[in-house]
Amino acid sequence: MEETLRVLVVDDDEVDRMAVRRALKKASLPMELSEAVNYAEAIALLKTNPFDCVFLDYQLPDQDGLILVRDARQLGLLVPLVVLTGQGDEQIAVELMKAGATDYLSKSRITPERLEQVLRNAIRVYRAEMKVVVANQQLRESNELLKRQNRELELQRQQIQLQNLKLIEASQLKSQFLATMSHELRTPLNAIIGFSQLLLRRSKGTLTTSQMDMVERILNNGKHLLELLNDILDLSKIEAGRLELKPEPFNLNHIVNATVEELRSLADEKHLSLQVKVEPPDVQVVNDPSRLRQVLVNLLSNAIKFTEAGGVWVNVSLFSSDRITIIVRDTGIGIAQEQLKQIFEPFRQVDQTTTRKHPGTGLGLAITDSLVQMMQGKISVESQVGKGSTFRVDLPRQLAFPCPPMASETLFNLNVNDSSEVS
Ligand code: ADP
Repeated sequence: MEETLRVLVVDDDEVDRMAVRRALKKASLPMELSEAVNYAEAIALLKTNPFDCVFLDYQLPDQDGLILVRDARQLGLLVPLVVLTGQGDEQIAVELMKAGATDYLSKSRITPERLEQVLRNAIRVYRAEMKVVVANQQLRESNELLKRQNRELELQRQQIQLQNLKLIEASQLKSQFLATMSHELRTPLNAIIGFSQLLLRRSKGTLTTSQMDMVERILNNGKHLLELLNDILDLSKIEAGRLELKPEPFNLNHIVNATVEELRSLADEKHLSLQVKVEPPDVQVVNDPSRLRQVLVNLLSNAIKFTEAGGVWVNVSLFSSDRITIIVRDTGIGIAQEQLKQIFEPFRQVDQTTTRKHPGTGLGLAITDSLVQMMQGKISVESQVGKGSTFRVDLPRQLAFPCPPMASETLFNLNVNDSSEVS
């Protein structure tokens, strides 16, 4: 205790005050002494000055020391109060301690050593108490802060939940709209396709060449539109977790070659070489043939669409006895590294401008990715801008039965009407 201690002595007896003063001065502590002669003076000083310790006489002229102790404590003063009692006042001392006195000392036992010891003890206890008070206060404050932050977090959580609900609702509406629209559009479209096919078959000789050409264009555009609508419907079904695979055994070579031949005319139009290799040629697999064909069509049509010169290669092989690998490689425009993940998201296209050179909805790879996942497989891509891209699909040779619909992250309860589907 090196700092100067502020001590108050409260006693109406000048002789007693002097005795305490002398004893305190003899104690080896730096001290600043104040004195009060009655209750009123003492309370006034206590209210306005921060003391480190108070020695007070039990008997004061205007009030007794017990009242002073009680009032000081009621004022919230924590300063150590040491009461100086007369001889034989032990019962009173107990009362004083109950009222909040820190310690008591019989006046007859006042010596410098005793006073110093009482003073040191009282201050030590006081400081320890103050530390507890400060720590408690800090605890209360941080508790309050935490409660406030908790309330704010709860508010934010509720807002996010509300926004989430709105987003889910908006997304549901979107998916519902897509499903309804594609369904509604396909009915008249089927009529257009059907009638133009009929017209082409029956009107040979009655229509002029240019009229036949126009009907053919109507048919081709109708088919293209139907493919787009089917993509949208597929996506809606995948999002609703309603797309199911129908596995059956088939010859992989047949499906791959048939699909490549279907698309060969597109490669020929652009003077691209299109090569296909299936090894070994008679691999039997168990999968959904139409969905596997869809995966191939998406990858192959993209490869042809995004390639202006060079060629496209389709390579199918047995990776191990129970896994197959399909590789579609092209020498096209390539994809920048930072775009490689995004292209598998629905509606994502590297060129999203309305003036883009290559047509498309941005759904093909999203659907392909979902289908491959449903087939318990994996799709990956490597690409270099200006050099070309390689898409690789790894699949089990045999799908596990029954094939569960994909657990989509956005499982919407859509009203997708399966019976409306046109094959
Ligand atoms: P779409 O072809 O209808 O635009 P996809 O989902 O099939 O949609 O492909 C998304 C995007 O990924 C394409 O718009 C294109 O930017 C890019 N992409 C896909 N395949 C290739 C490829 N073989 N070469 C270059 N870019 C490709």
